[in-house]
Amino acid sequence: MAALKPGVIALFDVDGTLTAPRKVATPELLQFIQDLRKIVTVGVVGGSDLSKISEQLGQTVTHDYDFVFSENGLVAHKQGKLIGTQSLKSFVGDEQLKEFINFTLHYIADLDIPIKRGTFIEFRSGMLNVSPIGRNCSQEERDEFEKYDKVQNIRSKMVSILREKFAHLNFTFSIGGQISFDVFPQGWDKTYCLRYLDGFHEIHFFGDKTYKGGNDHEIYESEQTIGHTVTSPEDTMKQCQSLFLES
Ligand SMILES: [Mg+2]
Repeated sequence: MAALKPGVIALFDVDGTLTAPRKVATPELLQFIQDLRKIVTVGVVGGSDLSKISEQLGQTVTHDYDFVFSENGLVAHKQGKLIGTQSLKSFVGDEQLKEFINFTLHYIADLDIPIKRGTFIEFRSGMLNVSPIGRNCSQEERDEFEKYDKVQNIRSKMVSILREKFAHLNFTFSIGGQISFDVFPQGWDKTYCLRYLDGFHEIHFFGDKTYKGGNDHEIYESEQTIGHTVTSPEDTMKQCQSLFLES
């Protein structure tokens, strides 16, 4: 489908931007995107994997959008076709990953905190998720750890040691949620997907977490994009209406 305004793309975050958090997109939104697509090229970039994004935006998502970037673009689809994949394992390599994982597990073993459970490192395709208490703790134990960590700074101390020890790997460490932090190569945030959008002279990005520390911040701030902060799917439609459909 040829868009009326060539070289212009509207690129959307998923959660909180096209759908209510962790919910399915409304029929109104899906129709709006198809109307918008007659005017500009449209794309989505989400942190989740493709199966989760399909649950939220529909099983035909890779055909409904010109570009679908799942896992921040580590998996990239253009007009329904897979055009690129990247993973932690192939990028960093098993030797260096093993070194990092071994050191981290030793560090956790020596850590004196009130309780420990299981799954201290979760290996995902684009990141490692590290939890000093272990991910399979109960909700109550999570809440307790979060309080304890606020006082003892277990995670931030651990991050500063890992950052220094593995400086050569150029990892980004991101403390989020209650019990863990994420570790991934520098640049593997949502800006990763911009490498596929060289041909566009106007990249409009819409996201709800554009503040510092939010998962839309880097791409919102990027010199390659024109960033727009939205508060809900309704707000996204409203802003797109005035930007693209009324001019
Ligand atoms: Mg969001």
